[in-house]
Amino acid sequence: MATVKRYQILCSKCNHHFPVFAALYHTVDVDGWIKEKAETHDCKAYTDALAKAREPRPVNPIKASKKGK
Ligand SMILES: [Zn+2]
Repeated sequence: MATVKRYQILCSKCNHHFPVFAALYHTVDVDGWIKEKAETHDCKAYTDALAKAREPRPVNPIKASKKGK
């Protein structure tokens, strides 16, 4: 049984590190696997997700209405 490990993969296209969890067997060529993961990175989805994560948290609507008036 292979154990699940966390791999930090650098995408050369968008230049972001992204984590991938995988259980690789020792027969797997890890370097080749990482390269393949980097090449198949969905850069747009990743940057969209990052942008979403950076968005300011929605303000509590009750507090916001009090503050606004
Ligand atoms: Zn990418």
